[in-house]
Amino acid sequence: RKIIIAIDGYSSTGKSTVARQLAKELGYIYVDTGAMYRAVTLYAMQQGFIDENQFDKDALAKNLHLINIRFEVSSSTGLAEVFLNDVNVEKEIRTLKVSRQVSPVAAISSVRRKLVEQQQLMGKNSGIVMDGRDIGTVVFPNAELKLFMTATAKDRAERRYKELIERGEDVTYEDVLKNVVNRDHIDSTRKDSPLRKADDAIKIDNSNLTLVEQFDQILNIAKK
Ligand code: C5P
Repeated sequence: RKIIIAIDGYSSTGKSTVARQLAKELGYIYVDTGAMYRAVTLYAMQQGFIDENQFDKDALAKNLHLINIRFEVSSSTGLAEVFLNDVNVEKEIRTLKVSRQVSPVAAISSVRRKLVEQQQLMGKNSGIVMDGRDIGTVVFPNAELKLFMTATAKDRAERRYKELIERGEDVTYEDVLKNVVNRDHIDSTRKDSPLRKADDAIKIDNSNLTLVEQFDQILNIAKK
């Protein structure tokens, strides 16, 4: 029997690493919903709807139907990559520039409606591990297994900083910490489906455990 596994939590808690490994181990599809919000944000940036100084929410809302987001498994890495209107944007959506604008975009109700609907369709045939902020609460409230991942802001900023440096981005640790804290605030205080732990989600603190310890713990629960 294939189930739906929902993984939610604050930014950079290591959700995607756990989700990807879990999907691989169980032969499930992995969906990174953050990538979808990032792709919509990139579109808004490309169109000039949003930058550091302004955000034309109406323009974005009016153009939502022109945004097509899909995942395609890369033949070289075997990992799913994001396509925005048929262009591979996997690298671009991970930059700090996009991270800085994504939370206000994700707070727009019509954006959430569009992406949640697409996410629910992806889960139709089950056998899916989905990570995000509202998967266990809104997208799949009936998911068989829900995890909620936490870690201190410092640990999370360090994780994200290392990732960005490895990708060759010119950022400081302070920039990344500021972004992580700021996104957490917007994500958890937005009116529409704020980030919170579902009552039936299992809380996992990724500050102290090593990834291996943690993964075995989760896999045991998933296989039960
Ligand atoms: O997971 P990631 O950090 O890439 O997500 C980027 C942003 O997308 C989050 O900070 C949040 O604003 C938004 N998001 C969301 N709901 C989801 C996944 C991501 O609002 N399910």
